[in-house]
Amino acid sequence: MSQIPYKIYLTEEEMPKAWYNLRADMKNKPAPLLNPGTHEPMKAEELGGVFCEELVKQELDNTTPYFDIPEEILGFYKMYRPSPLVRAYCLEKKLGTPAKIYYKFEGNNTSGSHKLNSAIAQAYYAKKQGLKGVTTETGAGQWGTALSMACAYLGLDCKVYMVKVSYEQKPFRREVMRTYGASVTPSPSMETEVGKKILAEHPGTTGSLGCAISEAVEVATTTEGYRYVLGSVLNQVLLHQSIIGLETKAALDKYGVKPDIIIGCAGGGSNLGGLIAPFMGEKLRGEADYRIIAVEPASCPSLTRGKYAYDFCDTGMVCPLAKMYTLGSGFIPAPNHAGGLRYHGMSSVLSQLYDDGLMEATSVKQTDVFEAAETFARVEGILPAPESSHAIKVAIDEALKCKETGEEKTIVFGLTGTGYFDMVAYEKFHDGQMTDYIPTDEELQASFDKLPKMD
Ligand SMILES: *Cc1c(COP(=O)(O)O)cnc(C)c1O
Repeated sequence: MSQIPYKIYLTEEEMPKAWYNLRADMKNKPAPLLNPGTHEPMKAEELGGVFCEELVKQELDNTTPYFDIPEEILGFYKMYRPSPLVRAYCLEKKLGTPAKIYYKFEGNNTSGSHKLNSAIAQAYYAKKQGLKGVTTETGAGQWGTALSMACAYLGLDCKVYMVKVSYEQKPFRREVMRTYGASVTPSPSMETEVGKKILAEHPGTTGSLGCAISEAVEVATTTEGYRYVLGSVLNQVLLHQSIIGLETKAALDKYGVKPDIIIGCAGGGSNLGGLIAPFMGEKLRGEADYRIIAVEPASCPSLTRGKYAYDFCDTGMVCPLAKMYTLGSGFIPAPNHAGGLRYHGMSSVLSQLYDDGLMEATSVKQTDVFEAAETFARVEGILPAPESSHAIKVAIDEALKCKETGEEKTIVFGLTGTGYFDMVAYEKFHDGQMTDYIPTDEELQASFDKLPKMD
């Protein structure tokens, strides 16, 4: 009999009280954001027009290892944290693997994902600065929902630009956001200059995260008392999401469990960056070694097929340039790609770690992802988000390799959320209508050709 509980929770005393800034331990720091006009590193004053002051400090700080989590945020976290670290006994049995599989489940809150961890932090700093409200984009809808919840809690206005394809496919998501008091606009819209421009160039486009970001930034920078907030990619978001990894590590340490493989899905990189943070910290300091695997969709493969280059974070090219693995800011993933993870680039932190060979990346096809999702749902009960199911797919593959070799590896993966709002995609899968669109080299090259020219 194992002494380890099926689900490991933490006591208040064991809960992390500070976020961990992985950048402090990186020898090769992530490249700085550049001003799109001058190509000089962005200064705090310039970023302050777009983001709240405190968040700008966090964004630019590559040296401070820990940031205390403010009391108010710790209080909010009490509503839904710690999230459980679950041993997937039923999945192990179904696969017949000697591997031990754990997943960190972030879907236990109404937004249905890990995004609330950063939403509350960003809304808190906006409120503290005395702002009226925030603007943002949302793709699949989880970020918009999380931000709406955080803003409702703190009494801030929230304007959400939602990628049109999701707006249409997920009307209930929109209503959840409106329940929490947010206004929701399908993007691209005719409400912004950049939206009008994108619609003129790509009539009938179903939108992309990059377009929605441009719109939200434009509104934030032209409306008094508003700032822009972003749910992924940025350094500050990875910092807030380190709560996932810190809790995971505390839970494993409590029972003396050391993971061999850590797996997470990667869209903009925030959940993965958060999950791996303390483990990667040990790896960087030479204290331990782990295999770390980022999983991305074959239809939007920024790490596995992208270029490591400076690029715009948005389609409208109004945001700073970030050095990252990118498919090009003009890349719009095929509309038949169901899950989130549609962003063209990847967090600068993860891009640098990947470029330094400190982590691996792999891409998976969406039909295989949904097959893994269904296997998981049937044995573990939780109906996973399509995004999360990318990690499930690779966790299952690694567990099956252990079955062949007889190795009892410990696999930890991030189960970032639930998929109740993704039933249209599940329906397509069940009806055999789901296809796998994988961009050709020519399509990617056409997008790479438009990367900004750096001198
Ligand atoms: C947003 C989201 C992701 C991907 O975003 P990252 O920033 O890469 O973590 C993954 N899973 C769920 C459930 C999400 O909502």
